Amino acid sequence: MFRTETHMHTAEGSGCATARGAEQAELYKAAGYDTIIITDHFFNGNTAVDRSLPWNDWVDGYCLGYENAKKRGDEIGINVLFGIEYGWYGTDLLVYGVDKQWLKNNPDVINISVHKFCDKVHEHGGIIVQAHPFRDADYIRDIKLLPKYTDAVEVFNAGNREKIFDERAMWYAEQFSMVKTSGSDRHHLDGDKFFGIVTEYEIKDISDYIRAIKENNIAELIHQPNFK
Ligand SMILES: [Zn+2]
Ligand SMILES: [Zn+2]
Repeated sequence: MFRTETHMHTAEGSGCATARGAEQAELYKAAGYDTIIITDHFFNGNTAVDRSLPWNDWVDGYCLGYENAKKRGDEIGINVLFGIEYGWYGTDLLVYGVDKQWLKNNPDVINISVHKFCDKVHEHGGIIVQAHPFRDADYIRDIKLLPKYTDAVEVFNAGNREKIFDERAMWYAEQFSMVKTSGSDRHHLDGDKFFGIVTEYEIKDISDYIRAIKENNIAELIHQPNFK
């Protein structure tokens, strides 16, 4: 069985993260993971990269955390894959199956609607997972659900402060027969919560993860109670 982290950040890419890409690779290797997927906050989220940069330069900066993690991962033996956490006014979508070149080729992704963005990712063969759909926090004004535009629901998130947020996500996934995922949403090196998924085959390439979601081949959701 193989362990994969599906949702995590780097200081290079995310304004709210302190763990560098290379440090994240080392942390997860030590924690016994086979694969990590870096999902830094996108242009429309809490990006650490100056939005006034020309698009290609912004993309280079955005991908740096992933690239640093991948370089270290190759040295120590953990798969490091690329993803995105796309922000839509407090609603977060995890995007898998696109890469740096796709971003450079599609500078319009920051101007089109969320629905068109989802269509574009799907046309490219990618998938979209709605992150912590029922989290409540000061920065979230409303709950927006996109069952027609997403492929799975993150039902466990280590950053959720209340149990009911996860329970509602589970209810939503069940009601709409959607595939369920789990993610740590790790931003820092400290903290003892490691979430993610277990699969029978190793997730070596992002296409392996896409297949696991599309075929619902997730054997287990890794999570621990967040709540006292
Ligand atoms: Zn963040
Ligand atoms: Zn996140």
